[in-house]
Amino acid sequence: MARYIFVTGGVVSSLGKGLSSASLAYLLKSQGFKVRVRKMDPYLNVDPGTMSPFQHGEVFVTDDGAETDLDLGHYERFTDISSTKNDNITTGRIYSDIITKERRGDYLGKTVQVIPHVTNRIKEFIKNGIKNEDFVICEIGGTVGDIESLPFLEAIRQFANDVGKEKTLFIHLTLVPFLKSSDEIKTKPTQHSVKELRSIGIQPDMVICRSQQSIPLDQRKKISLFCNIPIKRVIETVDVKTIYEAPISFFNEGLDKRVFEYFNVKPRKKINLKPWKEVTKIVTNKNIRTVNIAIVGKYVDLKDAYKSLDEALVHGGIHNNVKVNLIRVESDLLKVSDVQKKLSNVSGIIIPGGFGKRGTEGKIACINFARTKKIPFLGICFGMQMAVIEFARNVLKIKNAGSSELDKNCFPVIGLIEEWKKNGRKIKGTVKNLGGTMRLGLYTAKLQHNSLIKEIYKSGQIKERHRHRYEVNVNLRKKFETHGLNFSGMSPDNKLPEIIEIKNHPWFIGVQFHPEFKSRPLQPHPLFSSFIEAAKNK
Ligand code: GLN
Repeated sequence: MARYIFVTGGVVSSLGKGLSSASLAYLLKSQGFKVRVRKMDPYLNVDPGTMSPFQHGEVFVTDDGAETDLDLGHYERFTDISSTKNDNITTGRIYSDIITKERRGDYLGKTVQVIPHVTNRIKEFIKNGIKNEDFVICEIGGTVGDIESLPFLEAIRQFANDVGKEKTLFIHLTLVPFLKSSDEIKTKPTQHSVKELRSIGIQPDMVICRSQQSIPLDQRKKISLFCNIPIKRVIETVDVKTIYEAPISFFNEGLDKRVFEYFNVKPRKKINLKPWKEVTKIVTNKNIRTVNIAIVGKYVDLKDAYKSLDEALVHGGIHNNVKVNLIRVESDLLKVSDVQKKLSNVSGIIIPGGFGKRGTEGKIACINFARTKKIPFLGICFGMQMAVIEFARNVLKIKNAGSSELDKNCFPVIGLIEEWKKNGRKIKGTVKNLGGTMRLGLYTAKLQHNSLIKEIYKSGQIKERHRHRYEVNVNLRKKFETHGLNFSGMSPDNKLPEIIEIKNHPWFIGVQFHPEFKSRPLQPHPLFSSFIEAAKNK
C-alpha cells in the first residue's frame, strides 16, 4: 500500500514547498520507488485556467489537458513523472462537485457540510487513481493559519487515522529567520506555526526549516524540544544558488534518509546525483559565455508568468554550455519605432503564448525584425499565430490579415475552426473541445520530410501539449508554402497546422503547442536546445 507524505507550510508563503516536494519526489524516485506528487490549492477558482498570470503565474498544462498550478511544473521538471488531472485540486473544484451532487439529489436530503462532505471529497482526491505507487506526496497550498486551508488540514488529519499513522508522514516547512541586528537565528515563528498545526490535531513528524544560513545545533535542539520532533527530523534548507542544487542539498541534509527510516523501508537503488551536480556547475559558472535572448510578451516583468518557458530556456543553455540572458521586452509598451533599438544586441527572439489584442502590433514588429534580419526566432502558440499574421501581411500582401480573436473584421489567417466551416470551407472539426473551449493537452503532429523541425526532433511524429482556441487557417497552406513559409508539422488528419518554418532563414520556427512544458533540466527539450544553439552560432 502507498505511503502518504503531506507537506504543509508555515510562517510565510513562498518558502519553496513546491520545490521541496519536487526534490523529495526526485530523491525517492531515483532510489527505485514509484512516486506521485499532488497539490491541493485552497482558492475558490475551479482551476487556475481562468486566473491571470499577473496574479497567479503560469498555468501549467498536463498531458491529459488539465490546467493546473505551476507547482506541477516543478514536480514534472524534477521527477520527469507526467502529472495528470488527478494531481491538482482546488477548493472551488471540490465545492463545485459537491454542489452539483447536491442539486442532483445525491445526498438524499442530508445536510451537506464541510465535515464530512468536503473532507471526504478531499480524501477521495488524495487516493484517487493511486494503485502501485510507493509514495504519494501531497502538497497543501497556502500557509497554516489561513482560513481557506482548514478543511484540507482537517482532511489530512483524518486521512492519517483512516490509513494508519505508520503510512503517513507530515512534513512542515517553516521559516527560521536570521535577525541581522542581534546576529541571531530565531526559532519562535517555527514554534508558533507548529503549535497552530498541533491545535488542529496534526503533530508534524518532520520540519524543514528554511534559513539564510545553517542552523546551529542549539537552535535545532530548541526546535526539536518545542515542536516535539526528534532532532534528526529537524531538517534545514539553506538558500541555494540555483534551484537545481535543491535535490543535492536535501540529499546532503538526509531528507530522503529520514523518510526511509520513518517508513522503515530501504532504498532499492543507489542514487546518482552527478547529473544535478553537472547542471548546477553550468548554471552557476560565472565565466561561461552568455547568449542574449529577447522574450517579447505581456507579462514579462512578472517572475512566474512564463515559468516553464524561462526554465526551458535555461535547459537549452545547459545543453549548449552557455548562460541564457533573458531580455524581457514588455510588448504593451513597445513602440514599433523602438523595435530595432530594443533588439539590437539579441541573438534570438521568442514570442510566447498569449491572449488578447494588447501588445500584438509590437510583437508583430519584432517578428518582422527577426524574419528580415535573419535572427533565430521561436514563436510559441500565440507567437506562432502572430508570425503567420506577419508573413501574411508583409509577404503575401494580405494587408488586413489577422486573427479573429483580436479583430472580427480582419481576414482571418488565424481563427476558430467553426469559422472556416461557416464560411463554407470544408474543414471538419475532428478535434474535440473547440468552439468556446480550448484545445488542451497532448496532440500528435506529423513532421514533414526534409524539414528543420524533423531534424531537430529526430522523429517523424511528436506529441506536445496544447492550450489554445484558435488555429492557423489551413486553406491558405499552398499560398504560404509557395512564398517560403512551410507548414512543416500537421495534425495527423492534415487539417490543423501545428508547426511553421521559414525556408529562407537560418532558424525561424513557430509551434502551435507549448514545448516548454516538456523540457527538463536533465533532458533539455530539443527545440530549445536547437534554438539556443542557433542563437549561439549567430
Ligand atoms: N490566444 C491564442 C488562442 O487561444 C493563443 C493561446 C496561447 O498562446 N496559449 O488560440
